[in-house]
Amino acid sequence: MKWRKFLRTGQNRLLARLEPTLKKIPAVNRRIETQYETLMADLEPTLKPYRDTFATYDRLPVDGRSHDDILSEIQALKKLEEARWRDGFVSGAVYHGQDEHIHFLNQVYALHSQSNPLHADLWPSLAKFEAEIVAMTAHMLGAGQTRPGHGVDEEICGTVSSGGTESILLAMKTYRDWARDKKGITRPEMIVPVTAHAAFDKAAQYFNIKLVRIPVDHNYRADWTAVREAITRNSIVIVGSAPSFPHGAIDPIEEMSTLALKYGVGFHTDACLGGFVLPWAKKLGYAVPPFDFRLPGVTSMSADTHKYGYAAKGTSVVLYRGAELRRYQYFTATDWPGGLYFSPTFAGSRPGALSAACWAAMVSLGEEGYLEATRRVLETAVTIREGIAAMPELRLLGHSLFVHAFTSDELDIYRVLDHMTRQQWSLNGLHHPPCIHLCVTLRHTQPGVAERFLTDLQTAVDAVKSQPQAEGGMAPVYGLAATLPLRGVVGELLKRYLDTLYKV
Ligand SMILES: *Cc1c(COP(=O)(O)O)cnc(C)c1O
Repeated sequence: MKWRKFLRTGQNRLLARLEPTLKKIPAVNRRIETQYETLMADLEPTLKPYRDTFATYDRLPVDGRSHDDILSEIQALKKLEEARWRDGFVSGAVYHGQDEHIHFLNQVYALHSQSNPLHADLWPSLAKFEAEIVAMTAHMLGAGQTRPGHGVDEEICGTVSSGGTESILLAMKTYRDWARDKKGITRPEMIVPVTAHAAFDKAAQYFNIKLVRIPVDHNYRADWTAVREAITRNSIVIVGSAPSFPHGAIDPIEEMSTLALKYGVGFHTDACLGGFVLPWAKKLGYAVPPFDFRLPGVTSMSADTHKYGYAAKGTSVVLYRGAELRRYQYFTATDWPGGLYFSPTFAGSRPGALSAACWAAMVSLGEEGYLEATRRVLETAVTIREGIAAMPELRLLGHSLFVHAFTSDELDIYRVLDHMTRQQWSLNGLHHPPCIHLCVTLRHTQPGVAERFLTDLQTAVDAVKSQPQAEGGMAPVYGLAATLPLRGVVGELLKRYLDTLYKV
């Protein structure tokens, strides 16, 4: 058995290394090309379902259409797409989604749809909203409460960004520039658990930072002992997730950030997912290890207001320990003919309406609102977790509060995923190892939703058990994409998928 596994991985490595050469052989290239085209042709109708039913534009209409006409068309599209997320068939994606809350956010958005924080002179209200979003988030995440006896408790500050990815990209750029200025590091390295969000890979690519990956333990938490070995003179930042997107596992932030402090390296807690859950979970008595600015080694954090902060999509918060660090995020241009130019984040002009709606979401919920929302989400998550645990064919991965990843040792888990999709569910398919997850939101706390999930999951498991042969669906594609040694082929397929999205 071990031999076969060895041979297989040996073969995979060999194939992966031969990939560039293989692609240069015309016959091989042609075969792959045909495969790409068949696969994309199969996929295209599901990505472009409206071609036959709605007008399509590949140029401007000569005469503009009436508002009523356009509104009714957009309403028709909305109706087709709304039920799945509203009725709780979707993992993550829409975190609140209650009618009254949405209506309220829409009203605030409408009041500010013309505003732009780039013009602070025209809309000082936006600077107020954003400063308060940052301050409220910082307070929730331990600002001013760093454990005593660990030097100065510098002010926790930050900025509003467009989402978790931007918050992470900004923080990584900040560490790169900080380390170059303060330590003369010109070949920066970031130490990142394999389970950290892909946005860290994106940061490494965009900003030319070497990514040093840390493995996870049997509970899918970062192996902090590997962090020590990974630290070099070029290390700029260590990353931990609270919790991680794939398995909902909270990394050992205390141990990792203590090492960061000891070696004078930055530490970023990615609380994009958990930032607006864990503080309340702790108050509710759930076991939540320290993860925020109470730990003296934590020097930055990301927390998504557009997830469990229950704001509209398009806002997140990035926080820093000390205003000096935040400075490395800012951009200034002093000699541009367009005048003195400066901006805190990547964008120039930004939607002020989203910051206004985010502020409104936060102050309308208040501590009591977040506490109650968290109580409901976590109670539902316990029901779902216990239901999955009771199915002998399935195995939960690690310990999670509200993102439950599970696999099967006897069934193809991707076929279970296919059967869930056929019952309207939209769950996340993950790999390394193959598993699927459900990120529990307020949508799942509606009466009967958790029970329906478990019933449908049992049906899916039974169906896969009773049909040993695969029957189409995405399972073979997932299986192949997860194990194919030719990662270039998989990457190319993803790029073609994106090309397809932009086809009219
Ligand atoms: C969602 C998420 C991100 C990225 O956030 P986006 O808002 O999708 O850009 C980063 N980290 C974790 C843990 C997340 O769950």
